[in-house]
Amino acid sequence: MTAHDTVPYNPKSSKAEEFINHQEVLATLEYAAENKNNVELIDEILKKAATHKGLSHREAAVLLECDIEEKNQEIFALAKKIKEDFYGNRIVLFAPLYLSNYCINSCVYCPYHITNKHIPRKKLTQEEIKNEVIALQDMGHKRLALEMGEDPKNNSIEYLLESIDTIYSIKHKNGAIRRVNVNIAATTVENYKRLKDAGIGTYILFQETYHKESYERLHPRGPKHDYAYHTEAMDRAMLGGIDDVGLGVLFGLELYKYEFAALLMHAEHLEAVFGVGPHTISVPRIRRADDIDPSTFDNGIDDDTFAKIVACIRIAVPYTGMIVSTRESKKTRERVLELGISQISGGSRTSVGGYIHPEEDEGTEQFDVSDRRPLDEVVRWLMERGFIPSFCTACYREGRTGDRFMSLCKSGQILNCCHPNALMTLKEYLTDYASDLTREVGDRLIEEELKRIPNEKVRGIAEKYIKNIENGQRDFRF
Ligand code: SAM
Ligand code: SF4
Repeated sequence: MTAHDTVPYNPKSSKAEEFINHQEVLATLEYAAENKNNVELIDEILKKAATHKGLSHREAAVLLECDIEEKNQEIFALAKKIKEDFYGNRIVLFAPLYLSNYCINSCVYCPYHITNKHIPRKKLTQEEIKNEVIALQDMGHKRLALEMGEDPKNNSIEYLLESIDTIYSIKHKNGAIRRVNVNIAATTVENYKRLKDAGIGTYILFQETYHKESYERLHPRGPKHDYAYHTEAMDRAMLGGIDDVGLGVLFGLELYKYEFAALLMHAEHLEAVFGVGPHTISVPRIRRADDIDPSTFDNGIDDDTFAKIVACIRIAVPYTGMIVSTRESKKTRERVLELGISQISGGSRTSVGGYIHPEEDEGTEQFDVSDRRPLDEVVRWLMERGFIPSFCTACYREGRTGDRFMSLCKSGQILNCCHPNALMTLKEYLTDYASDLTREVGDRLIEEELKRIPNEKVRGIAEKYIKNIENGQRDFRF
């Protein structure tokens, strides 16, 4: 092949440059720019989206590009409606747990890069993990996302597997971590199989940027430099048997329109090859950190653009959960919760050992947390805004992952299944961990929300289970 030949676009290909095809992304951006004022086309796309079928990356790119005020209002309204139709008012809560900040990569946006010689490097022992997990359980968390740098020697797969075992084995008071998601560097099919066997929930890996040239510049050294290996990681994860995978880009590194189109192409690729799209999409933005200054990156996006991205992702992939972390402020989180976010972290520490030693945050924190409220406050705030904070992990534990979870969504059974599950896990939280004020707000909410369960029999059982929780029993689920 000569340098002038272009690589063909093929969503079914297993090669990164074919399924995230640069020419196709550029053609999509051109198409979107040409049609950004094409009201007829925009209406047609919105009509299709309203049928809950999702959109192609080209269609979604047109909506993202559109700057007709009236149409944008329609886009936001539709995102809100789709969010309500698919997820109701439930918001799933989780917390990150940083195991180690040793790293041999050189990502220019992350303070854990290998050339940062002045931050203390730390890796938790199994005993320290136990203490962190007990602190998290005492806050009320049931769902964690494990985070660590890439370092085969210090952060081996064996270390991670042992840590997962430790975490699942800790039973402290009424607490238990019931779902461990994992956010670690791209690895082999064999290692993904081992993670699957260890019982992980979602495998999360952010692409950072889909733009190959920028990717290589932003990851100048270390194994993460390999764009194809990184981009094809989700395929290997799925071949290894993990069917819940979480995508994401780090907004601020490259042009957001490019990232948006490519992210949806990635989702289409997984759907085309494995018959199931991503379980979640995360939308992190670069934050200040030790030796990282976000203003040195040229592609930062403002809050309005951020909200528009969230709304357009919601419309394009209605079955995919969307995550926003404590990188975002309370105010921003409030805005995007309405538009499509289904999971948030709360009470987070982004340093190694930070739940036991918060004062060490300054040394090993991966990025500045913007929303620093304790979990109890986050839970109450959600409820006061009409959301049901959910600690549910039932789908994963009932084996409803991948396409089985998707069919639950598609069959419209959410109100008879996820809704009561959310209420029961909220009741557990209120009983075991909440402040008096939060418990009061929560009990009122549960009473109201129970009435919304359409199936009479399910409603009756949920009411009985909630009474049982009050009487000391735990862990009910549909
Ligand atoms: N080391 C693994 C990796 O790079 O994939 C996974 C864990 S890393 C701790 C999690 C994510 O944090 C990265 O994928 C990156 O997107 C994000 N991150 C790194 N530096 C950041 C910063 N300064 N602000 C916000 N997010 C950042
Ligand atoms: Fe290491 Fe991940 Fe940070 Fe990159 S983003 S330096 S791989 S911890």
